[in-house]
Amino acid sequence: MLKKELNIFTFADLLEHYPYRHIDRTKVNLISEITPQSEFVQVAGVLVNFEVIGQKAGRRIVAELKDKTGFIELTWFQGLGWVQKLLEAGQSYLVYGRVTYYNGKPQIVHPELELLVPDQQLGKNYLEPIYSTTEKLKARGLGGRQIGKLTQLLLTMLREKDIEEILPVSLLKQLNLVNRFNAFKQIHFPQTIAEHEQAVKRLKFEELFVAQMRMNLIRSQRHRFSKGVIFEKVGEYFNELYKNHLPFQLTGAQKRVIKEIRADTAKGKQMNRLLQGDVGSGKTIVAVLTMLLAVDNGYQACLMAPTEILAQQHYQTISGQLDKIGVTVKLLTGSTKTAERKRTLQELSEGVLKILIGTHAVIEDVVQFKNLGIVIIDEQHRFGVAQRARLWQKAEVPPHILVMTATPIPRTLAMTAYGDLDYSVIDELPPGRQPITTVHRYESHRSKVMDFIRAEIDKGRQVYIIFPLIEESSKLDYENLMKGYENVKAWFPEPRYWISMVHGKQPTDQKELNMRRFVEHDTQIMVSTTVIEVGVNVPNASVMVIESAEKFGLSQLHQLRGRVGRGSEKSYCILLTGSKLGNDARERIRIMTSTNNGFEIAEKDLELRGPGEIDGTRQSGALNFRLASIVQDRAVFEVAKNKALELLENDPDLVSAENLQLKKFLHYRKGPVQWSKIS
Ligand code: ADP
Ligand code: MG
Repeated sequence: MLKKELNIFTFADLLEHYPYRHIDRTKVNLISEITPQSEFVQVAGVLVNFEVIGQKAGRRIVAELKDKTGFIELTWFQGLGWVQKLLEAGQSYLVYGRVTYYNGKPQIVHPELELLVPDQQLGKNYLEPIYSTTEKLKARGLGGRQIGKLTQLLLTMLREKDIEEILPVSLLKQLNLVNRFNAFKQIHFPQTIAEHEQAVKRLKFEELFVAQMRMNLIRSQRHRFSKGVIFEKVGEYFNELYKNHLPFQLTGAQKRVIKEIRADTAKGKQMNRLLQGDVGSGKTIVAVLTMLLAVDNGYQACLMAPTEILAQQHYQTISGQLDKIGVTVKLLTGSTKTAERKRTLQELSEGVLKILIGTHAVIEDVVQFKNLGIVIIDEQHRFGVAQRARLWQKAEVPPHILVMTATPIPRTLAMTAYGDLDYSVIDELPPGRQPITTVHRYESHRSKVMDFIRAEIDKGRQVYIIFPLIEESSKLDYENLMKGYENVKAWFPEPRYWISMVHGKQPTDQKELNMRRFVEHDTQIMVSTTVIEVGVNVPNASVMVIESAEKFGLSQLHQLRGRVGRGSEKSYCILLTGSKLGNDARERIRIMTSTNNGFEIAEKDLELRGPGEIDGTRQSGALNFRLASIVQDRAVFEVAKNKALELLENDPDLVSAENLQLKKFLHYRKGPVQWSKIS
């Protein structure tokens, strides 16, 4: 039962099922002290006037407890049989419960009672823990309090040697932390609030520290022991594209990241790098140059995108660039025709084809490379860990891996969720971009918005209009989209205006056709659900209208906005909402209209929603701390991170006597994820 309901399998799990609050039963109140402001009270006295009154549903037991200062009424509506059997008038009891006032008199409904034996010390010498439980467990008699009893029993059986310290003693001293055994005791049964705080402080630190140790260990082990393909030189293809065919000058940030990648891939160790760059920061060209680096060194490269449309678009952009220098690129997706697919697979296994772009299709077992040197994963959060592991197995020496994401992740979160990866960031937009102007408009001003759109289109620009899709399958959402489409059509009639529509339920070829028409400026308006959210690049589009913007999350809004502002024209993002907005929605809109900075937005998103909900973080145990919060405990996090790095620097293999226990612990408790397997 405990297993299924609360995930408690072992004694250790029970110890880590921390109470969510404590109640103070160390003090015994005098009845005369009770006021309407009293919340929970504990009183001791003799039970008097014990009687069952009322009929049927109104039946209840009423009694009074008397101490030397007065009386308080006790009432029961349920379990009358039990109460009658267990309690006896004239006996002394310790009573605890919430005080309510009824007819101006204090009473406690369903109090907790404990028989007092003569000379018993009143009140407990610890704060009483309250635990979360489930309805099912309660029904079996394992309520929050009973769990406490189990834990208490366990703790009385444990000695200090049973819960060995895992943190180095010097660290405990330095940070003034209580030892592990005491921390566990005190987080459950503290004698004072201060003691509880000490325990929480210690265990929080431990959680964050252990997580940082794990991540850093994986990374340092990879740096030291992994085997990797060596890209030793910058060759002909790279130079040819770089010197003669780049349509623009690289930004400083792009150059820096390429340097980081070059250095990393020349070492003979496997690169495993996360590249973050806000939407439109120019990650694609970094991917292209990185792939050429592989080709120059005799290896194949593969670029994987999360959707067919994106893969298609990457293919078009990249093959356009690489044609000029004589490098062939092919596309492999679920809809690649059989004959074409066969040829591509053959060329890949023979090593003739050097660069492959595709969707999930590229990780199917039938896809065999001759000598895959690097895999680049665009918008990684759509790829699971298992899928990445499959790529890994495609070569004897694992290929380098570059994961690119446009979803900015706050630094603390990135360090926690991706601390095992190396990290690059493009923190600079290409020059000449004008900041996108974001405004909030109510539905009621729709006609003004449409006038604005018309003026932009008449200047030669293109426009996105996005409708929310809350559930992939929701009929209502599609009806909304269709209604919206008809509506837009009424404002912008053919043949003067043409509209593309794209949504998830369309067959792929139709989706692509519509997309292509918009990309080629055949249509001026793209009506769509969020399928175009990631990566699509139409620099001529200058207006993004988001319908029912209150229904979108912050990072999604930011992603959508990133579809415009990609050319040299001034761009706009219009957030349309209904007139009634909740507080959170209002806050999101406020943030969107006040900043264009993806990292700032990610920080706010983290604050508003908590780490579990942030796109781009792993759906894994990496962020599930029991006590620590990445948002609130940043200061602790910083200390934990620095101490972990310091420790690994001084003792990378954890061989010193002081660190042995920690090593054992890290080894023994692997956590929910097979860390060693992650790409
Ligand atoms: P993202 O990082 O969102 O994937 P892209 O790689 O799609 O961004 O680049 C966005 C746009 O910026 C593209 O049109 C691209 O050609 C252009 N671009 C990229 N780098 C530069 C640069 N250094 N100077 C000017 N334009 C650039
Ligand atoms: Mg991109």
